[in-house]
Amino acid sequence: MNLLYANDRRGEYPPSWYAATTAPLAPFAPLRGEVRADVCVVGAGYTGLSAALHLAEAGLDVVLLEAQRVGFGASGRNGGQLGSGQRMEQTALERLVGPEDATKLWDLAEDAKTLVKALVARHGIDCHLKPGVAHACFSGRETAHEHGYADHLAEHYGYDQLEKLDADAMQALCPSPAYHGGTLDMGAAHLHPLAYALGLARAAAAAGVRIFEESAVHHLARGIPARVATDAGAVKADHVILACNGYLGGLDRKVAARVMPINNFIAATEPLGDEATRVLARDVAVADSKFVVNYFRLSHDKRLLFGGGESYGYRFPHDIASLVRKPMLEIFPHLHDARIDYAWGGTLAITMKRMPYLARLAPNMLSASGYSGHGVGTATHAGKLMADAVHGEAAGFETLSRVPAPAFPGGSALRTPLLVLAMTWFSMRDRLGI
Ligand SMILES: Cc1cc2nc3c(=O)[nH]c(=O)nc-3n(C[C@H](O)[C@H](O)[C@H](O)COP(=O)(O)OP(=O)(O)OC[C@H]3O[C@@H](n4cnc5c(N)ncnc54)[C@H](O)[C@@H]3O)c2cc1C
Repeated sequence: MNLLYANDRRGEYPPSWYAATTAPLAPFAPLRGEVRADVCVVGAGYTGLSAALHLAEAGLDVVLLEAQRVGFGASGRNGGQLGSGQRMEQTALERLVGPEDATKLWDLAEDAKTLVKALVARHGIDCHLKPGVAHACFSGRETAHEHGYADHLAEHYGYDQLEKLDADAMQALCPSPAYHGGTLDMGAAHLHPLAYALGLARAAAAAGVRIFEESAVHHLARGIPARVATDAGAVKADHVILACNGYLGGLDRKVAARVMPINNFIAATEPLGDEATRVLARDVAVADSKFVVNYFRLSHDKRLLFGGGESYGYRFPHDIASLVRKPMLEIFPHLHDARIDYAWGGTLAITMKRMPYLARLAPNMLSASGYSGHGVGTATHAGKLMADAVHGEAAGFETLSRVPAPAFPGGSALRTPLLVLAMTWFSMRDRLGI
Protein backbone atom coordinates (compact mmCIF):
# COMPACT_ATOMS: atom_id res chain seq x y z
CA MET A 1 0.00 0.00 0.00
CA ASN A 2 1.20 3.55 -0.77
CA LEU A 3 1.57 5.11 2.69
CA LEU A 4 1.01 8.57 1.22
CA TYR A 5 -2.63 7.68 0.69
CA ALA A 6 -2.99 5.53 3.84
CA ASN A 7 -5.57 7.90 5.36
CA ASP A 8 -7.87 7.92 2.38
CA ARG A 9 -10.16 5.73 0.35
CA ARG A 10 -8.87 5.30 -3.15
CA GLY A 11 -10.33 7.87 -5.52
CA GLU A 12 -12.56 9.48 -2.88
CA TYR A 13 -12.40 12.91 -1.30
CA PRO A 14 -12.00 12.94 2.49
CA PRO A 15 -15.20 13.44 4.51
CA SER A 16 -14.74 17.20 4.86
CA TRP A 17 -17.26 20.01 5.02
CA TYR A 18 -15.74 21.11 1.73
CA ALA A 19 -16.54 17.83 -0.01
CA ALA A 20 -20.04 17.89 1.48
CA THR A 21 -20.74 21.35 0.03
CA THR A 22 -19.19 21.14 -3.45
CA ALA A 23 -20.88 19.81 -6.55
CA PRO A 24 -18.50 17.01 -7.63
CA LEU A 25 -16.97 16.81 -11.09
CA ALA A 26 -17.72 13.72 -13.13
CA PRO A 27 -14.66 11.45 -12.85
CA PHE A 28 -11.98 11.71 -15.53
CA ALA A 29 -10.97 8.28 -16.86
CA PRO A 30 -7.54 6.84 -15.95
CA LEU A 31 -4.78 6.95 -18.55
CA ARG A 32 -4.60 3.82 -20.70
CA GLY A 33 -1.90 3.21 -23.29
CA GLU A 34 0.73 5.62 -24.54
CA VAL A 35 -0.08 9.20 -25.52
CA ARG A 36 1.97 12.15 -26.77
CA ALA A 37 1.80 15.73 -25.41
CA ASP A 38 3.76 18.96 -25.45
CA VAL A 39 3.68 19.06 -21.65
CA CYS A 40 2.86 16.42 -19.04
CA VAL A 41 1.85 17.83 -15.65
CA VAL A 42 1.90 15.47 -12.65
CA GLY A 43 -0.49 16.33 -9.79
CA ALA A 44 -3.83 18.14 -9.97
CA GLY A 45 -3.79 20.53 -7.02
CA TYR A 46 -3.53 24.30 -7.47
CA THR A 47 0.05 24.03 -8.78
CA GLY A 48 -0.67 21.46 -11.48
CA LEU A 49 -4.11 22.80 -12.42
CA SER A 50 -2.81 26.33 -12.81
CA ALA A 51 0.23 25.20 -14.81
CA ALA A 52 -1.95 23.07 -17.10
CA LEU A 53 -4.58 25.79 -17.54
CA HIS A 54 -2.05 28.49 -18.43
CA LEU A 55 -0.18 26.20 -20.83
CA ALA A 56 -3.37 25.14 -22.60
CA GLU A 57 -4.56 28.75 -22.85
CA ALA A 58 -1.26 29.51 -24.57
CA GLY A 59 -2.03 26.83 -27.16
CA LEU A 60 0.02 23.86 -25.89
CA ASP A 61 -1.20 20.28 -25.85
CA VAL A 62 -1.24 19.32 -22.14
CA VAL A 63 -1.84 16.05 -20.30
CA LEU A 64 -2.52 16.28 -16.54
CA LEU A 65 -2.08 13.10 -14.48
CA GLU A 66 -3.57 12.83 -10.99
CA ALA A 67 -3.08 9.84 -8.68
CA GLN A 68 -6.52 10.20 -7.07
CA ARG A 69 -9.00 12.92 -7.95
CA VAL A 70 -8.60 16.52 -8.97
CA GLY A 71 -8.18 18.69 -5.82
CA PHE A 72 -7.82 15.56 -3.70
CA GLY A 73 -4.64 16.75 -1.89
CA ALA A 74 -4.02 19.85 0.22
CA SER A 75 -5.78 22.01 -2.36
CA GLY A 76 -9.16 20.48 -1.55
CA ARG A 77 -8.73 20.43 2.22
CA ASN A 78 -7.01 23.62 3.41
CA GLY A 79 -7.98 26.64 5.51
CA GLY A 80 -8.82 28.68 2.40
CA GLN A 81 -6.75 31.69 3.44
CA LEU A 82 -5.24 33.69 0.60
CA GLY A 83 -2.55 35.46 2.59
CA SER A 84 -0.30 38.37 1.64
CA GLY A 85 3.44 38.08 1.18
CA GLN A 86 5.52 34.95 1.29
CA ARG A 87 5.34 32.49 4.18
CA MET A 88 8.57 34.00 5.54
CA GLU A 89 8.34 37.61 6.76
CA GLN A 90 9.93 40.21 4.49
CA THR A 91 12.39 41.28 7.19
CA ALA A 92 13.74 37.71 7.35
CA LEU A 93 13.75 37.47 3.55
CA GLU A 94 15.77 40.68 3.30
CA ARG A 95 18.45 39.02 5.43
CA LEU A 96 18.24 35.74 3.51
CA VAL A 97 18.30 36.96 -0.10
CA GLY A 98 19.10 40.68 0.12
CA PRO A 99 16.74 43.64 -0.37
CA GLU A 100 16.54 43.41 -4.16
CA ASP A 101 15.34 39.82 -4.32
CA ALA A 102 13.19 40.35 -1.21
CA THR A 103 11.34 43.08 -3.12
CA LYS A 104 10.92 40.78 -6.11
CA LEU A 105 9.55 38.07 -3.81
CA TRP A 106 7.07 40.51 -2.27
CA ASP A 107 5.94 41.55 -5.75
CA LEU A 108 5.55 37.91 -6.80
CA ALA A 109 3.40 37.26 -3.72
CA GLU A 110 1.21 40.24 -4.59
CA ASP A 111 0.93 38.86 -8.14
CA ALA A 112 -0.18 35.55 -6.60
CA LYS A 113 -3.14 37.17 -4.81
CA THR A 114 -4.06 39.13 -7.93
CA LEU A 115 -3.88 35.95 -10.03
CA VAL A 116 -6.25 33.99 -7.76
CA LYS A 117 -8.78 36.81 -7.73
CA ALA A 118 -8.51 37.16 -11.52
CA LEU A 119 -8.91 33.41 -12.16
CA VAL A 120 -12.00 33.27 -9.93
CA ALA A 121 -13.51 36.24 -11.78
CA ARG A 122 -12.49 35.16 -15.31
CA HIS A 123 -13.75 31.59 -14.98
CA GLY A 124 -16.78 32.45 -12.84
CA ILE A 125 -15.65 30.11 -10.04
CA ASP A 126 -18.26 30.05 -7.28
CA CYS A 127 -15.94 29.64 -4.29
CA HIS A 128 -17.17 32.29 -1.83
CA LEU A 129 -14.07 34.46 -2.29
CA LYS A 130 -14.20 37.25 0.31
CA PRO A 131 -11.69 39.87 1.45
CA GLY A 132 -10.00 40.00 4.86
CA VAL A 133 -7.55 37.99 6.93
CA ALA A 134 -6.72 39.05 10.50
CA HIS A 135 -3.53 38.14 12.29
CA ALA A 136 -4.22 37.64 16.02
CA CYS A 137 -1.60 37.98 18.74
CA PHE A 138 -1.53 36.49 22.24
CA SER A 139 0.42 39.23 23.99
CA GLY A 140 1.26 42.93 23.91
CA ARG A 141 4.80 42.04 22.83
CA GLU A 142 3.58 40.08 19.82
CA THR A 143 1.11 42.84 18.95
CA ALA A 144 3.90 45.44 19.02
CA HIS A 145 5.95 43.24 16.68
CA GLU A 146 2.98 42.83 14.33
CA HIS A 147 2.31 46.58 14.25
CA GLY A 148 5.99 47.27 13.61
CA TYR A 149 5.88 44.80 10.73
CA ALA A 150 2.84 46.61 9.29
CA ASP A 151 4.88 49.85 9.37
CA HIS A 152 7.77 48.09 7.65
CA LEU A 153 5.51 46.83 4.85
CA ALA A 154 3.99 50.29 4.40
CA GLU A 155 7.36 52.05 4.35
CA HIS A 156 9.41 49.62 2.24
CA TYR A 157 6.80 47.91 0.06
CA GLY A 158 4.06 50.55 -0.11
CA TYR A 159 1.54 48.07 1.30
CA ASP A 160 -1.43 50.01 2.70
CA GLN A 161 -4.02 47.27 3.27
CA LEU A 162 -3.07 46.49 6.88
CA GLU A 163 -5.12 47.97 9.69
CA LYS A 164 -3.55 47.81 13.16
CA LEU A 165 -5.87 46.38 15.81
CA ASP A 166 -5.37 47.24 19.48
CA ALA A 167 -6.90 45.03 22.18
CA ASP A 168 -10.35 46.65 21.92
CA ALA A 169 -10.44 46.52 18.13
CA MET A 170 -9.36 42.88 18.20
CA GLN A 171 -12.08 42.03 20.73
CA ALA A 172 -14.65 43.84 18.57
CA LEU A 173 -13.60 41.68 15.62
CA CYS A 174 -12.97 38.41 17.41
CA PRO A 175 -14.19 38.19 21.01
CA SER A 176 -11.78 35.49 22.17
CA PRO A 177 -10.23 35.91 25.64
CA ALA A 178 -6.95 34.64 24.16
CA TYR A 179 -6.16 37.57 21.86
CA HIS A 180 -4.62 40.94 22.71
CA GLY A 181 -4.34 42.68 19.38
CA GLY A 182 -3.15 42.16 15.82
CA THR A 183 -3.76 43.38 12.29
CA LEU A 184 -6.47 43.09 9.67
CA ASP A 185 -5.33 42.69 6.07
CA MET A 186 -8.08 43.60 3.62
CA GLY A 187 -5.82 42.82 0.65
CA ALA A 188 -5.80 39.16 1.74
CA ALA A 189 -8.88 36.98 1.25
CA HIS A 190 -10.46 33.61 1.96
CA LEU A 191 -12.31 31.10 -0.18
CA HIS A 192 -13.80 27.59 -0.37
CA PRO A 193 -10.67 25.65 -1.37
CA LEU A 194 -12.21 22.59 -3.02
CA ALA A 195 -14.71 24.66 -5.00
CA TYR A 196 -11.77 26.77 -6.19
CA ALA A 197 -9.76 23.67 -7.20
CA LEU A 198 -12.68 22.13 -9.08
CA GLY A 199 -13.33 25.47 -10.79
CA LEU A 200 -9.74 25.49 -12.01
CA ALA A 201 -10.18 21.92 -13.24
CA ARG A 202 -13.32 22.84 -15.19
CA ALA A 203 -11.47 25.78 -16.74
CA ALA A 204 -8.48 23.59 -17.60
CA ALA A 205 -10.66 20.92 -19.22
CA ALA A 206 -12.52 23.62 -21.17
CA ALA A 207 -9.17 24.98 -22.38
CA GLY A 208 -8.32 21.56 -23.78
CA VAL A 209 -6.23 19.94 -21.02
CA ARG A 210 -6.57 16.14 -21.11
CA ILE A 211 -7.08 15.21 -17.44
CA PHE A 212 -6.61 11.64 -16.21
CA GLU A 213 -7.55 10.68 -12.63
CA GLU A 214 -6.53 7.57 -10.69
CA SER A 215 -3.33 7.72 -12.72
CA ALA A 216 -0.42 7.67 -10.28
CA VAL A 217 2.94 8.29 -11.90
CA HIS A 218 5.54 5.84 -10.67
CA HIS A 219 8.41 6.43 -13.07
CA LEU A 220 9.97 9.38 -14.89
CA ALA A 221 12.47 8.69 -17.68
CA ARG A 222 14.35 11.88 -18.49
CA GLY A 223 15.17 12.83 -22.06
CA ILE A 224 13.65 14.74 -24.92
CA PRO A 225 10.93 13.68 -25.03
CA ALA A 226 10.65 12.52 -21.41
CA ARG A 227 8.53 9.47 -20.62
CA VAL A 228 6.12 9.59 -17.67
CA ALA A 229 4.73 6.20 -16.71
CA THR A 230 1.65 5.10 -14.78
CA ASP A 231 0.51 1.51 -14.16
CA ALA A 232 -1.67 1.41 -17.25
CA GLY A 233 -0.11 3.98 -19.56
CA ALA A 234 2.59 6.49 -20.36
CA VAL A 235 2.96 10.03 -21.66
CA LYS A 236 5.80 11.08 -23.94
CA ALA A 237 6.21 14.83 -23.53
CA ASP A 238 8.66 17.58 -24.48
CA HIS A 239 8.30 19.10 -21.00
CA VAL A 240 7.37 17.67 -17.60
CA ILE A 241 6.03 19.64 -14.64
CA LEU A 242 6.04 18.04 -11.20
CA ALA A 243 3.29 19.41 -8.97
CA CYS A 244 3.08 16.64 -6.37
CA ASN A 245 3.76 18.62 -3.17
CA GLY A 246 3.23 16.52 0.01
CA TYR A 247 2.44 13.40 -2.03
CA LEU A 248 5.68 13.26 -4.03
CA GLY A 249 7.08 10.24 -2.17
CA GLY A 250 10.29 9.14 -3.83
CA LEU A 251 9.43 10.25 -7.38
CA ASP A 252 12.34 12.69 -7.40
CA ARG A 253 15.15 12.42 -4.85
CA LYS A 254 16.37 16.00 -5.02
CA VAL A 255 12.90 17.37 -4.27
CA ALA A 256 12.18 14.70 -1.63
CA ALA A 257 15.32 15.73 0.29
CA ARG A 258 14.11 19.35 0.51
CA VAL A 259 10.34 19.08 0.74
CA MET A 260 8.78 17.15 3.56
CA PRO A 261 5.16 16.11 4.12
CA ILE A 262 3.41 17.05 7.36
CA ASN A 263 -0.25 16.81 8.31
CA ASN A 264 -2.61 19.49 9.54
CA PHE A 265 -6.22 19.23 10.69
CA ILE A 266 -9.51 21.09 10.48
CA ALA A 267 -12.87 20.69 12.22
CA ALA A 268 -16.24 22.17 11.27
CA THR A 269 -18.73 22.74 14.08
CA GLU A 270 -22.48 22.54 13.75
CA PRO A 271 -24.00 25.78 12.36
CA LEU A 272 -23.69 28.38 15.14
CA GLY A 273 -26.59 30.63 14.13
CA ASP A 274 -26.61 33.91 16.12
CA GLU A 275 -23.74 32.58 18.29
CA ALA A 276 -21.46 33.02 15.29
CA THR A 277 -20.91 36.69 16.21
CA ARG A 278 -19.25 35.50 19.43
CA VAL A 279 -16.60 33.96 17.21
CA LEU A 280 -16.22 36.60 14.52
CA ALA A 281 -18.11 39.84 14.11
CA ARG A 282 -17.07 40.17 10.45
CA ASP A 283 -16.79 37.66 7.65
CA VAL A 284 -12.98 37.56 7.63
CA ALA A 285 -10.53 34.75 8.33
CA VAL A 286 -8.06 34.69 11.22
CA ALA A 287 -4.63 33.15 11.70
CA ASP A 288 -2.82 33.55 14.98
CA SER A 289 0.77 33.79 16.12
CA LYS A 290 1.27 30.28 17.52
CA PHE A 291 4.09 28.30 15.91
CA VAL A 292 1.56 25.53 15.24
CA VAL A 293 -0.87 28.12 13.98
CA ASN A 294 -4.58 28.23 14.83
CA TYR A 295 -6.63 29.47 11.89
CA PHE A 296 -10.35 29.85 11.48
CA ARG A 297 -13.26 31.51 9.78
CA LEU A 298 -17.00 31.10 9.46
CA SER A 299 -18.46 29.03 6.66
CA HIS A 300 -21.30 30.43 4.61
CA ASP A 301 -23.69 28.32 6.73
CA LYS A 302 -22.20 29.84 9.90
CA ARG A 303 -20.13 26.94 11.11
CA LEU A 304 -16.77 27.59 12.71
CA LEU A 305 -14.11 26.06 10.47
CA PHE A 306 -11.18 25.76 12.86
CA GLY A 307 -7.73 24.52 11.89
CA GLY A 308 -5.12 23.51 14.41
CA GLY A 309 -2.80 20.68 15.34
CA GLU A 310 -0.14 18.96 13.29
CA SER A 311 1.27 15.49 12.98
CA TYR A 312 4.35 14.12 11.31
CA GLY A 313 4.84 10.86 9.49
CA TYR A 314 2.18 9.43 7.24
CA ARG A 315 -0.71 8.33 9.44
CA PHE A 316 -3.34 10.76 10.69
CA PRO A 317 -4.37 10.39 14.35
CA HIS A 318 -7.45 8.28 14.96
CA ASP A 319 -9.67 10.98 16.52
CA ILE A 320 -9.13 14.20 14.56
CA ALA A 321 -12.16 15.95 16.07
CA SER A 322 -10.74 15.63 19.62
CA LEU A 323 -7.32 16.76 18.45
CA VAL A 324 -8.74 19.98 16.96
CA ARG A 325 -11.27 20.57 19.73
CA LYS A 326 -8.42 21.17 22.18
CA PRO A 327 -6.93 24.32 20.55
CA MET A 328 -10.43 25.40 19.49
CA LEU A 329 -11.57 25.52 23.14
CA GLU A 330 -8.41 27.38 24.15
CA ILE A 331 -9.48 30.14 21.77
CA PHE A 332 -13.27 29.86 22.23
CA PRO A 333 -14.00 28.27 25.63
CA HIS A 334 -17.71 29.08 25.26
CA LEU A 335 -17.97 26.51 22.46
CA HIS A 336 -17.49 23.56 24.84
CA ASP A 337 -20.89 22.14 23.93
CA ALA A 338 -20.69 22.82 20.20
CA ARG A 339 -20.97 19.66 18.16
CA ILE A 340 -18.26 18.90 15.61
CA ASP A 341 -19.92 17.71 12.42
CA TYR A 342 -16.84 17.24 10.23
CA ALA A 343 -13.14 16.73 10.97
CA TRP A 344 -10.45 15.95 8.44
CA GLY A 345 -6.75 16.03 7.84
CA GLY A 346 -4.59 17.08 4.96
CA THR A 347 -0.99 16.60 3.95
CA LEU A 348 0.97 19.66 3.00
CA ALA A 349 4.67 20.10 2.40
CA ILE A 350 7.21 22.24 4.20
CA THR A 351 10.80 23.22 3.50
CA MET A 352 13.62 24.08 5.90
CA LYS A 353 13.27 27.81 5.19
CA ARG A 354 9.46 27.74 4.89
CA MET A 355 9.78 29.09 1.35
CA PRO A 356 8.53 27.19 -1.70
CA TYR A 357 11.08 25.04 -3.50
CA LEU A 358 11.09 25.72 -7.24
CA ALA A 359 13.68 23.80 -9.21
CA ARG A 360 14.69 22.91 -12.74
CA LEU A 361 15.40 19.19 -12.35
CA ALA A 362 16.39 18.75 -16.01
CA PRO A 363 16.38 21.20 -18.95
CA ASN A 364 12.78 20.19 -19.68
CA MET A 365 11.60 19.21 -16.17
CA LEU A 366 10.37 21.74 -13.59
CA SER A 367 9.06 21.26 -10.08
CA ALA A 368 7.33 23.50 -7.53
CA SER A 369 6.23 22.49 -4.04
CA GLY A 370 6.83 23.07 -0.32
CA TYR A 371 4.62 26.13 0.17
CA SER A 372 4.75 25.51 3.93
CA GLY A 373 1.08 26.21 4.65
CA HIS A 374 0.90 29.26 2.38
CA GLY A 375 -0.04 27.78 -0.96
CA VAL A 376 -3.50 29.00 -1.95
CA GLY A 377 -1.94 31.94 -3.74
CA THR A 378 1.68 30.88 -4.13
CA ALA A 379 0.91 27.39 -5.52
CA THR A 380 -1.54 28.81 -8.06
CA HIS A 381 1.10 31.36 -9.02
CA ALA A 382 3.97 28.84 -9.11
CA GLY A 383 1.92 26.87 -11.65
CA LYS A 384 1.71 29.95 -13.85
CA LEU A 385 5.41 30.72 -13.35
CA MET A 386 6.28 27.20 -14.56
CA ALA A 387 3.98 27.65 -17.56
CA ASP A 388 5.78 30.94 -18.33
CA ALA A 389 9.16 29.19 -17.94
CA VAL A 390 8.14 26.53 -20.49
CA HIS A 391 7.67 29.44 -22.93
CA GLY A 392 11.15 30.75 -22.03
CA GLU A 393 9.89 33.57 -19.76
CA ALA A 394 11.59 32.31 -16.62
CA ALA A 395 12.30 35.49 -14.61
CA GLY A 396 9.72 34.83 -11.87
CA PHE A 397 10.60 31.13 -11.72
CA GLU A 398 14.31 31.96 -11.44
CA THR A 399 13.75 34.50 -8.63
CA LEU A 400 11.99 31.87 -6.53
CA SER A 401 14.47 29.13 -7.44
CA ARG A 402 17.34 31.35 -6.20
CA VAL A 403 15.99 31.22 -2.62
CA PRO A 404 18.30 28.90 -0.65
CA ALA A 405 16.67 25.50 -0.14
CA PRO A 406 18.82 23.31 2.09
CA ALA A 407 18.11 19.59 2.36
CA PHE A 408 16.52 18.41 5.62
CA PRO A 409 19.13 16.94 7.94
CA GLY A 410 18.94 13.21 8.29
CA GLY A 411 17.92 12.44 4.70
CA SER A 412 14.60 10.80 4.01
CA ALA A 413 15.16 8.12 6.70
CA LEU A 414 15.87 10.40 9.66
CA ARG A 415 14.19 13.68 8.68
CA THR A 416 10.84 12.77 10.27
CA PRO A 417 12.21 11.87 13.75
CA LEU A 418 14.38 15.01 13.69
CA LEU A 419 11.42 17.13 12.62
CA VAL A 420 9.28 15.65 15.40
CA LEU A 421 11.95 16.71 17.91
CA ALA A 422 12.14 20.25 16.51
CA MET A 423 8.36 20.65 16.28
CA THR A 424 7.84 19.31 19.80
CA TRP A 425 10.27 21.93 21.05
CA PHE A 426 8.45 24.74 19.19
CA SER A 427 4.99 23.64 20.29
CA MET A 428 6.29 23.43 23.88
CA ARG A 429 7.40 27.06 23.50
CA ASP A 430 3.85 27.85 22.26
CA ARG A 431 2.37 26.28 25.38
CA LEU A 432 4.80 28.04 27.69
CA GLY A 433 4.32 31.34 25.89
CA ILE A 434 8.04 31.95 25.28
C1 LIG B 1 -5.13 21.34 6.54
C2 LIG B 1 -4.41 22.32 5.65
C3 LIG B 1 -4.64 23.69 5.80
C4 LIG B 1 -3.99 24.60 4.97
N1 LIG B 1 -4.36 25.91 5.04
C5 LIG B 1 -3.87 26.80 4.16
C6 LIG B 1 -4.35 28.13 4.11
O1 LIG B 1 -5.29 28.50 4.82
N2 LIG B 1 -3.78 28.99 3.23
C7 LIG B 1 -2.79 28.59 2.38
O2 LIG B 1 -2.30 29.42 1.60
N3 LIG B 1 -2.34 27.31 2.36
C8 LIG B 1 -2.87 26.41 3.20
N4 LIG B 1 -2.47 25.10 3.16
C9 LIG B 1 -1.47 24.71 2.15
C10 LIG B 1 -2.08 24.59 0.75
O3 LIG B 1 -3.24 23.81 0.80
C11 LIG B 1 -1.04 23.96 -0.19
O4 LIG B 1 0.15 24.69 -0.15
C12 LIG B 1 -1.52 23.89 -1.64
O5 LIG B 1 -2.80 23.34 -1.73
C13 LIG B 1 -0.52 23.09 -2.46
O6 LIG B 1 -1.05 22.81 -3.72
P1 LIG B 1 -0.35 21.72 -4.63
O7 LIG B 1 -1.11 21.66 -5.89
O8 LIG B 1 1.09 22.02 -4.73
O9 LIG B 1 -0.46 20.37 -3.80
P2 LIG B 1 -1.72 19.39 -3.56
O10 LIG B 1 -2.99 20.12 -3.55
O11 LIG B 1 -1.40 18.52 -2.41
O12 LIG B 1 -1.75 18.53 -4.89
C14 LIG B 1 -0.77 17.58 -5.19
C15 LIG B 1 -1.48 16.51 -6.03
O13 LIG B 1 -0.50 15.72 -6.67
C16 LIG B 1 -1.00 14.40 -6.72
N5 LIG B 1 0.16 13.52 -6.89
C17 LIG B 1 1.24 13.42 -6.10
N6 LIG B 1 2.10 12.51 -6.55
C18 LIG B 1 1.57 12.03 -7.70
C19 LIG B 1 1.99 11.06 -8.63
N7 LIG B 1 3.14 10.39 -8.49
N8 LIG B 1 1.20 10.81 -9.70
C20 LIG B 1 0.04 11.49 -9.89
N9 LIG B 1 -0.42 12.41 -9.00
C21 LIG B 1 0.34 12.68 -7.92
C22 LIG B 1 -1.69 14.22 -5.37
O14 LIG B 1 -2.62 13.14 -5.38
C23 LIG B 1 -2.33 15.58 -5.18
O15 LIG B 1 -3.67 15.62 -5.64
C24 LIG B 1 -3.06 24.16 3.99
C25 LIG B 1 -2.82 22.78 3.85
C26 LIG B 1 -3.49 21.88 4.65
C27 LIG B 1 -3.26 20.41 4.46
